[in-house]
Amino acid sequence: MRKHTPQSETTLPAEYPHHFASARKKLYRLTIFLGFLALLLLVANSWLLYQHFSSRAHAPFLVVTSTEMLADAVRQITDTHCVHVQALIPVGSDIHTFRAHPSTIALLWQADVILIHGLGAEGALARVLETYPYPERVWNTGSWFTRQDLLWEEDGQVPDPHVWNDVVLWRKMVDTLGKRLLARIPQNCQNSTRVRWLRYLQRLDTLHQWVHHQMQFIPREQRYLITPHASLAYFARRYGWETIPLQGVSSVSPLNPHHLRQALHLLRHHIVPCVFLEYGISVQVLKLLQERYPQTQFCGYLYTDGVGPPPANTYEGFIRWNIHQIVSAWRQVQDNTRQPAGTVSSASR
Ligand SMILES: [Zn+2]
Repeated sequence: MRKHTPQSETTLPAEYPHHFASARKKLYRLTIFLGFLALLLLVANSWLLYQHFSSRAHAPFLVVTSTEMLADAVRQITDTHCVHVQALIPVGSDIHTFRAHPSTIALLWQADVILIHGLGAEGALARVLETYPYPERVWNTGSWFTRQDLLWEEDGQVPDPHVWNDVVLWRKMVDTLGKRLLARIPQNCQNSTRVRWLRYLQRLDTLHQWVHHQMQFIPREQRYLITPHASLAYFARRYGWETIPLQGVSSVSPLNPHHLRQALHLLRHHIVPCVFLEYGISVQVLKLLQERYPQTQFCGYLYTDGVGPPPANTYEGFIRWNIHQIVSAWRQVQDNTRQPAGTVSSASR
């Protein structure tokens, strides 16, 4: 046993250098271990990040679109094994009042390209995308048109987003879309995409000619379309019609009293046979029309804001559906075989 003396309280023990060296060694080993551990965590973290981004790089090219209508355009011109497409807004939903959900945000993060109509079509989605950290991935198709291509509301300040109802403008959008996708998708997908894209452009040319041909069955003096909201102005400009929408370019626009008076005049004087309903759009304003003129007849649905159920589940499908609806309604007038008056409530979705 070591003898305890007062000096030993203040004097380092003789074996101190040995203890000190041992402690230093332990500290050194601990530092090495912690450093190694930190390095290991850093490598693991980097590996997980690498896995995340490399898995996206090897997965099929993902295009997230705002609407099924845009998704259809991508599907028509690309192979499914090359490009995956996912639309955010469900079929039948009002695109103008769409609100982004947390699942929407998660999908946006996964996207290689985000395709939107723009021009104010998608409600609050555009505001979400303003803060998206990769703006180069957001393809705003509305910006692919010239100012002359577009129709403008409110003294030229607000663009009408419904360009898709003009087949020629939709073809223009598809033309640019194909070029941009060819520049981004993997090389082994480019040949098949180019072939599909050119064929689809030809089909859209054929569709435009067909619509143009169908219009000859309707006298120019009867070409007025009454709809809930202002969705058919591009169609009207291209194919020689006048539209009488009861609201503005959004389904939440206020009632247009001037158009309401015009609509009542056209109905009372039997210049137009009926009023069209619009798939996914509220019929509230039509109830007002029916209150003012109970004999109002309703022609059926038009798909004015995008695709619907089959056979209107593609762009070509819904355009053909709309034209058949319009032509058959006006033919009934010419044949004096109008159907009994319907009601808004019975015709509403
Ligand atoms: Zn609309």
